Amino acid sequence: MVFQQKNGRNHRTRNILVVTLLLFPILLMSACSGNPENNNHNNASSSNNSENSENKNTAFKVAIDPGHGGRDPGATGASGQYEKSFTLNLSKKVEKRLEQESGMEVFMTRTDDSFISQESRERPKYANRKNADVFISIHGNTFSDPNVSGTETYYYHKTSHQFAQILQKHVVKATEFRDRGIKKKDLFVVRDTEMPAALLEVGYLTNSANESKMHTDDFQSRVADSIVKGIKEYKEESEKQGIFS
Ligand SMILES: [Zn+2]
Repeated sequence: MVFQQKNGRNHRTRNILVVTLLLFPILLMSACSGNPENNNHNNASSSNNSENSENKNTAFKVAIDPGHGGRDPGATGASGQYEKSFTLNLSKKVEKRLEQESGMEVFMTRTDDSFISQESRERPKYANRKNADVFISIHGNTFSDPNVSGTETYYYHKTSHQFAQILQKHVVKATEFRDRGIKKKDLFVVRDTEMPAALLEVGYLTNSANESKMHTDDFQSRVADSIVKGIKEYKEESEKQGIFS
């Protein structure tokens, strides 16, 4: 009988212990009774969140980035025309087509001749803010040797490799230019984007044969169609792989 001590002080200690033990379940219950409210609140907010994410997930978000703009004309082509107008014209055609696709939502980093500074990193930041599922930066290439021509696609992160591959496959079919393949390159637009991202160099503006086609409406329409095909194929692939559902 070690616990049955006749010492009053120990009795008091035991009484305090008993009271505490009795109080403990009450405290616990009141704490629990507070929880359902919290849980309900959490449930409500989490169901809201899942609703929101379901809404977000219903559309496949595509960020289109027309290269250059404003006081940054990009390359000056063989004919003297600027890269910035080629990229905007083609991007707008892609935008129009994507708007007509069900289950697609399109965002443009620029829709007019506005300047976007490189220092601000605004292009990838914009796509990240919009929570885009894919990002495509559209450009025309240049080289000192005017004989160099062809279509190529750049990517940076491993997670963008497949997207770049699919895009290149479709676009090169449309341009009918030399297939220069896909290349990994540290370009901030494809590096700082948090989704699969590709920078498309449709053709060489410094090559007069490439350039003369690149500025035509017909060529741009074909390329725009092929970009949309590429996006759709990638969307289907990512659905299969569970990246996007
Ligand atoms: Zn460019």
